[in-house]
Amino acid sequence: MTLINGDASEKEQYEVIVVGTGVSGIYQLHKLRELGVSVLALEAGSDVGGTWYWNRYPGARFDSESYSYGYSFSEELLAEWDWKERFSGQPENLRYLQHVADRFDLREDIRFDTRVRSCVFDDVTNKWEVEAEDGFRVECQILITAIGILSKPLIPEYPGMENFDGPSFHTAQWPSEGVDFDGKRVAVIGTGATAVQLIQEVAKSAEHLTIFQRSPNWCAPLHNGPISEEEMSSIKNRYEDIFEACKSSFAGFIHTSDSRKALDVTAAERNEFYEELYASPGFGIWMGNFRDVLVDEEANKTLSEFVERKIRERVNNPDIAEKLIPKDHGFGTRRVPMETRYYEVYNQENVMLVDLNETPIEAVTTRGIETTKHNYDFDLVIYATGFDAVMGPFNSIDFVGANGKLLREKWSSGPRTFLGMSVSGFPNMFTLVGPHNASTFCNQPRCIEQNVEWVSDFVAYFFKNRISRVEASEIAENSWTEHVHESVSRLLMSKTDSWFMGVNKNIVGREEKNFMLYAGGFPGYTQRCNDIASNGYEGFNLS
Ligand code: NAP
Repeated sequence: MTLINGDASEKEQYEVIVVGTGVSGIYQLHKLRELGVSVLALEAGSDVGGTWYWNRYPGARFDSESYSYGYSFSEELLAEWDWKERFSGQPENLRYLQHVADRFDLREDIRFDTRVRSCVFDDVTNKWEVEAEDGFRVECQILITAIGILSKPLIPEYPGMENFDGPSFHTAQWPSEGVDFDGKRVAVIGTGATAVQLIQEVAKSAEHLTIFQRSPNWCAPLHNGPISEEEMSSIKNRYEDIFEACKSSFAGFIHTSDSRKALDVTAAERNEFYEELYASPGFGIWMGNFRDVLVDEEANKTLSEFVERKIRERVNNPDIAEKLIPKDHGFGTRRVPMETRYYEVYNQENVMLVDLNETPIEAVTTRGIETTKHNYDFDLVIYATGFDAVMGPFNSIDFVGANGKLLREKWSSGPRTFLGMSVSGFPNMFTLVGPHNASTFCNQPRCIEQNVEWVSDFVAYFFKNRISRVEASEIAENSWTEHVHESVSRLLMSKTDSWFMGVNKNIVGREEKNFMLYAGGFPGYTQRCNDIASNGYEGFNLS
């Protein structure tokens, strides 16, 4: 670190700044330190962890098998860390990331409680000036964002919200001291992956729980359970194979799709396979199913009908079951929430479902929530209403690129990137888990390691070759953006409204589908990135 002198304009200088210390920022910082470049990471929270730092709601846990989620880059780390549950919970996940930060001595290069406000590129010096909300300013040659895609919580605006007498908060802004539901009348708004995890926990102790649902989702059983010492030691012996399997799977999970098509087998065989998947842990039913269920409407219908039967079997009241069954999209075409006795919650005396399509919320009152039909009294209102996904975190910072161009203006009609890691007009900047990056539709740490290693190789190349400016070419960006949209067009998810498709009913201008992720598969993406690097970073303008 160098300090540039000069009274009010005094600012630190680093070769690289990393914004964010979640799963991607932690590893990026570690890799850059290994390379020996001067680096500082800026973190909005008071500790590392990102997603697992902010999302402390009860029930928050991995939907990926724990042993497939941890970092794979260090044999020592793999050997010393024992996962306790098949799908580990938030407290342990945060402890793990804190352990990684301590083990690799990363904290000394992190400035906590530092929320970045702006990043401005200087066309003359080819440097970025980064400014935080507390006035901290720093300059760097390379800027790496590790800000996540689900880090900007969104609470809908209801009239009167500020008047509610009790506590109310978003799931991603959960009070760190915890929340006691005992004897409380609780409202949960939303039924996405977060709400489904939360609801099954709140229902255990709340005096009464009211769930406000706008759109039901197709949920599937998680089948969590403890990992015994013997099992953990066997996992440790198989780590290499496990990570290899993830690398060759479409989305970085241990689950790979079945080579058969649903429509090529008999109804009995199909049903048997669906039963097997429904009884198995994790995302197998989504990622390890017949290879046509996510691309062919007829095949998908057979799976949706199977899950529909399961919902009807598990929910006692047929009217409630009916409301919990999605009618506007097929299984797996939106993110599948994973559950543990979620559907059985609706059989409990202390739980009620309010269908917002029949009775929309009109206002929040001092005592609770008013719909078009009823006034409900609550002690606590929880917004599990999701995020300004993908674009939100980028739009929250003023990224000003070459010629004073604002990133949010450039992306006003949707993201345009090269590999989801670089943006034309924004030199010397890399976006880990950026829009249109394979890690957005992935068992994230697996794709994050690929992102970080690729970017780190580039950073080494940049300094070794005394490059001062790197920028994706417009041609490369156009061709990647076209490829991204093409990659999703064959999937049924492209026909369904969801945050994957950039639709958010709470944000004006986000009514139309505009794909935010990358659905061309992790192995193909890795190959493409590697080919580009081997060809001297083809598609980038270097000077
Ligand atoms: P989400 O999937 O966007 O769900 C938000 C929920 O709130 C939806 O049910 C939505 O209904 C509802 N909602 C939003 N605005 C509303 C309004 N004005 N009135 C009524 N209802 C409203 O958000 P999320 O559940 O937080 O999950 C986001 C993503 O985080 C997931 O898809 C997943 O990728 C990730 N996640 C991961 C894990 C894990 O890995 N273990 C756990 C949780 C979440 P509509 O559908 O009608 O908009």
